[in-house]
Amino acid sequence: MSNNATSFFKTVQINFDKAAALTEWPKGLLLQIKACNSVYQMQFPVKINDEYQVIEAYRVQHSQHRQPTKGGIRYSNMVDQDEVMALASLMTFKCAIVDVPFGGAKGGIKINPRDYTEDQLQRITRRYTVELIKKGFIGPSVDVPAPDYGTGSREMAWILDTYQTFSKGEIDAVGCVTGKPLNQNGIRGRTEATGRGVYYGIRECLNYPDDMKELGLTTGMSNKRIVVQGFGNVGSYSALISQNEGGATIVGIAEYDGTIHNSDGIDIPALIHHKQQNCTITTFPGATLLKDKDDWVSIDCEIMIPAALENQIHQGNAGRIKAKIIAEAANGPITAEAEQILLDKGVMILPDMYLNAGGVTVSYFEWLKNLSHMRFGRMEKRFNQNTYVNIISTVEDLTGKSVNAEEKILITRGADEIDLVRSGLEETMVTAYGNIRDVYRSRPLVKDIRSAAFINSIDKVANDYISLGVFP
Ligand code: NAD
Repeated sequence: MSNNATSFFKTVQINFDKAAALTEWPKGLLLQIKACNSVYQMQFPVKINDEYQVIEAYRVQHSQHRQPTKGGIRYSNMVDQDEVMALASLMTFKCAIVDVPFGGAKGGIKINPRDYTEDQLQRITRRYTVELIKKGFIGPSVDVPAPDYGTGSREMAWILDTYQTFSKGEIDAVGCVTGKPLNQNGIRGRTEATGRGVYYGIRECLNYPDDMKELGLTTGMSNKRIVVQGFGNVGSYSALISQNEGGATIVGIAEYDGTIHNSDGIDIPALIHHKQQNCTITTFPGATLLKDKDDWVSIDCEIMIPAALENQIHQGNAGRIKAKIIAEAANGPITAEAEQILLDKGVMILPDMYLNAGGVTVSYFEWLKNLSHMRFGRMEKRFNQNTYVNIISTVEDLTGKSVNAEEKILITRGADEIDLVRSGLEETMVTAYGNIRDVYRSRPLVKDIRSAAFINSIDKVANDYISLGVFP
């Protein structure tokens, strides 16, 4: 991206303004919805080897119209105030779109996690958590972090442990953070949740014949060619589930150190295994390594999934994109300048604030589980199972025919936590897409899905402010 390109936060604000102009809400209310309410910038010392490093970090709470606020924590040496404010803003709109009753927040620590040992990362994470506690920027009813770029369940466990150390018997303390390991009050299905939500979102979009006809595509995901940028948590699960459950062909994967291509399809489970063993995708035997890693943008495909970082599709490479659909698994992967180029080319953009909302949706389920102190499915699983068994045996008695043992197990199975989480996530993503598409199709002035998503969420947040009595 060139140095004079629009900043990430500015891009979010430009997109907000574009959509807000199509609503009838008063100016003051729109300004409040757009503003970042609380920005906490901190610096703290951590001893690394023989010397102290001063670590720069942030937590931004964009909006408290619903509480707690919620949003991931990112470890990257690109973290700055602009980035965290942009990400926190997106969280507000994201939560509104999927009807998750939280305000938006985000955190970031300006480090490259690859430069630190596990022990050093643990000390940085714990110190950051203490800073959040000191200023009241964390707590199950206040602000609840989660994983994001460069963090995962390990960091969330450290945050939980630090918070509990200071929380003096607070009964709901485990709800202070989500994305925790399963044995530390996490929930089944959280690790895959963002990628699975990306899959449900793309699948839903591909289901509408009129929309696909306009793009020159057939309906359905089967055999659609997909290119993914970023093979971390979100990118790898998006690719895996799109291949396994959607029948898509993943033809290209881009990572920070190289891009691989195979027009017949890349075996994603094998690639995941290869990356785990070798810490790189570039040596994977089942694909060709491109000479120029930046050529990921021009690989022939129908769908492109940027799943790395913001500003990856910019003025300099947007014109080379062949995909008909760009599915924003990452937050803010398209700059404001590139957005216009793509829309002019007739590309459909599935916006981040909808498409990657699977993570916060399942984080919401985890938080509910933590507050109820009970796993989903525990009360009803056996009851449902017994009811189904009784129905089958009644039908068998009445018809004189019997259901074979294998089918019986399948039909009578009660739902486990993972079944309920996936079902809740699927319902959320399908319903939200329907709501956004209604705005897109019913309002002639709305020309793109991002604006439709913004309008959908602005309406919900505005109504909240009005019912709180903050605005008349
Ligand atoms: P991650 O750290 O697990 O993976 C990111 C991957 O991108 C890494 O493998 C990294 O090497 C790769 N990468 C970095 N720079 C790259 C480049 N220039 N080209 C190609 N690959 C590059 O992070 P993640 O959790 O998968 O997050 C990815 C994106 O998804 C971020 O924008 C994040 O905000 C967003 N997101 C994540 C979640 C979540 O639940 N983790 C939820 C919503 C949105």
